[in-house]
Amino acid sequence: MSFAATILTLYPDMFPGPLGHSLAGRALGTGVWTLDTLQIRDFAEDRHRSVDDTPAGGGAGMVMKADVLARAVDAALAARPDCPVLAMTPRGAPLTQDRVRTLAAGPGVTLLCGRFEGMDERLFEARPVEPVSIGDYVLSGGEMAALTLLDACIRLLPGVMGAASSGVEESFESGLLEYPQYTRPVTWEGRTIPEVLRSGDHAKIAAWRAQRAADDTRLRRPDLWERYRSARDRPPSGAQ
Ligand code: SAM
Repeated sequence: MSFAATILTLYPDMFPGPLGHSLAGRALGTGVWTLDTLQIRDFAEDRHRSVDDTPAGGGAGMVMKADVLARAVDAALAARPDCPVLAMTPRGAPLTQDRVRTLAAGPGVTLLCGRFEGMDERLFEARPVEPVSIGDYVLSGGEMAALTLLDACIRLLPGVMGAASSGVEESFESGLLEYPQYTRPVTWEGRTIPEVLRSGDHAKIAAWRAQRAADDTRLRRPDLWERYRSARDRPPSGAQ
């Protein structure tokens, strides 16, 4: 069965964009995933087809209207009641590889793309919409965030990646960053690929990679390292 992506956006032409190329593009062509876009403006009911209004309490910019967004979400849910609805917003929970893997194992996703100053908060109270962020920085619109989330899901769909193993050894899958990678030439600008990787000794290679994954995570991502370490050192549940 195809993974169904539905995008609610003011800019449907931005899709599939980069996801029409390479692995994702091929997978779209062969029906591994499907793409539907809904124009949010089609759910406006006034003469001017307005989708936004000034912020309550004052301030710069415009806010996307709850009633228009809710009608768009309702239409997406009517078409795909089985797919979770995720709203792209810097105020959401940070997207993780765990969440991506769970989403990729499901029937699909409906992604709501914000613009302007964001969405009327009452949408999140009135509809089953999960706020999701792709990182601690602010984009000008949710479309790039939706493309990022979709790309992360699509590459995990069965048959999309060439080697079956290439999804499971990657950064975050074990809770750590991936070990560093090298390829030919053996020496480049006076720098040589670590000898162990050329030794053919698979046990030693695995040990070196595990050590580097741990060292690099500790140095570059102390937040990840702490999480990994406390999960690793936690006694199994039920143990005294
Ligand atoms: N005023 C909002 C704030 O400070 O939280 C930012 C609004 S941003 C200019 C416009 C839209 O871009 C958002 O509604 C959201 O859809 C999208 N966006 C921006 N940064 C994002 C992020 N880090 N993750 C997910 N979506 C983001």
